[in-house]
Amino acid sequence: MNPLPILRFQLMYRRPSIFIMKRFYSELGKMPDSLKDIPEQSNPTFYNMVQYNFHKARVVVEEKLIESLKHQKGLPPMDLSARKAKVRNVMSYLEMCDAVLELNFPVKKDDGSYEMIRGYRAMHKCHKMPVKGGMRYCLSVNRDEVRALSAIMTYKCATVGVPFGGSTGGLCINPAKFTVNELEKITRRYTIELARKGFIGPEIDVPAPDVSTGEREMSWIADTYHKTFGYRDINAQGCCTGKPLNQGGIHGRISAPGRGIFNCLDQIVTSEDFMKLAGLSVGWKDKTFIIQGFGNVGLHTSRYLTGAGAKCIGIMEVDGSIISPQGINCLDLHNYKLTKGSIVGFPGAQPYRGKNLICEPCDILIPAAGEKLINKEVAQEVKAKIVAEGANGPITPAGDKVLLSKNILILPDLFCNAGGVTVSYFEWLKNLNHTSFGRLTFKYERDSNYLLLSSVQESLERHFGQDGTKRIPIVPSESFKTRIAGASERDIVVSGLAWTMERAARELTNTAKEFNLGTDFRTAAYVAAIEKIFHTINEAGLTF
Ligand code: GLU
Repeated sequence: MNPLPILRFQLMYRRPSIFIMKRFYSELGKMPDSLKDIPEQSNPTFYNMVQYNFHKARVVVEEKLIESLKHQKGLPPMDLSARKAKVRNVMSYLEMCDAVLELNFPVKKDDGSYEMIRGYRAMHKCHKMPVKGGMRYCLSVNRDEVRALSAIMTYKCATVGVPFGGSTGGLCINPAKFTVNELEKITRRYTIELARKGFIGPEIDVPAPDVSTGEREMSWIADTYHKTFGYRDINAQGCCTGKPLNQGGIHGRISAPGRGIFNCLDQIVTSEDFMKLAGLSVGWKDKTFIIQGFGNVGLHTSRYLTGAGAKCIGIMEVDGSIISPQGINCLDLHNYKLTKGSIVGFPGAQPYRGKNLICEPCDILIPAAGEKLINKEVAQEVKAKIVAEGANGPITPAGDKVLLSKNILILPDLFCNAGGVTVSYFEWLKNLNHTSFGRLTFKYERDSNYLLLSSVQESLERHFGQDGTKRIPIVPSESFKTRIAGASERDIVVSGLAWTMERAARELTNTAKEFNLGTDFRTAAYVAAIEKIFHTINEAGLTF
């Protein structure tokens, strides 16, 4: 690894000294004045939305944090004012982005003309390295958006126990306006610019797919990094995740956000308590759902949900919406969209002619595209019983307030769509291990399982089989047969993700109970995340 970017990086991320931070103190126990009316605003900035959610949770958890400093291993006792100051300092540090990079560079288009491209990358918190988050190509990309998304990534990683800080970046472009050749040039140049500024690398910042980016873009990023800044770095492949399999990707990363949303919903739909709260019957059968956005997240979510027995009755996209009370076949729709470039005109459904599809009656509503879809006014019209946030930040605080008052169960982004970053973590580990999961143990496990079966058989025959003359064959059950050959990489990814989501669901439910938050799982997720990050930062020290 070239030491220069690391040095630059270290210089850039010197955390502000405690004296400078005094200016930013937010008062303990109180929402900052500047954010007070966010839950009334129809169109707050995205970053203010995240700030508001953070402070709402901070106010809830502060007292516990102050208390937790009373007895710290190996440290002299702190008096109350010192403990309060410590919590205030860490919170002030936590609420802001560590760094935001804006880049402007020219690209020469296929027709010989030039166009200026603007890109960003925000690193929210570097308390754990690397930092991690998506890379989107979209006209909505700006400083506010990447800051908000990077903060969401910090809290999301903490919520599901992925040991990374948060970041996010993107290019403010409409990818449909560029040829593949131009997009490749732009992506490679962007990667070089990020590397020059110390904003990418397997130990620094690891981008992943987001809106309008996927395996292709990650492959360009990995290749560019590997052949330039990372040429001496044996771990260079881990500079981004969501890569194609033959470039160091992992099985199941593409469908991971959808699978995670399914795992998350599954905890709710199969729980008697939650379904009683939502006023629904337990189980997937005949549950109806509406999806906003039929990109990667929307497609795979609907695949898993319909696979479990639910029915997709409506899909909304930017250029039109479709409905079908009988249920939409998502794979047919995907193939249709691939050929036509749109879901409009799909023969397996009817065009939607109402006011707003997401306000139609259904059991589960899944916003799976941009932010701020459900504001105060829309929330008043939402009739779903459960809203599962497939996208980051689809509900404004005002919308949140209305939905909560209507007893609609909200599964927050920090938890609900964490499948992507969780499997990204597995991919990064795979890259650092330089081998796929299961590769070393596959044969050993299979042989051991067969030996176990024959050893059980021999014992039984010795005991019951008339001096070993009578055969007592042991036949593996159907479910054991599927596992006898050992866990493949896909098996490990699938069970690792399901376990991560189960654990996070348990933690959130416990946090909600502990702090008396009712069904406000967003605040519970922020509280749980803040607690974890606080202890990491506190134990490591605020400055260095
Ligand atoms: N777009 C993903 C998210 O928002 C990217 C996460 C990652 O894999 O780094 O969660």
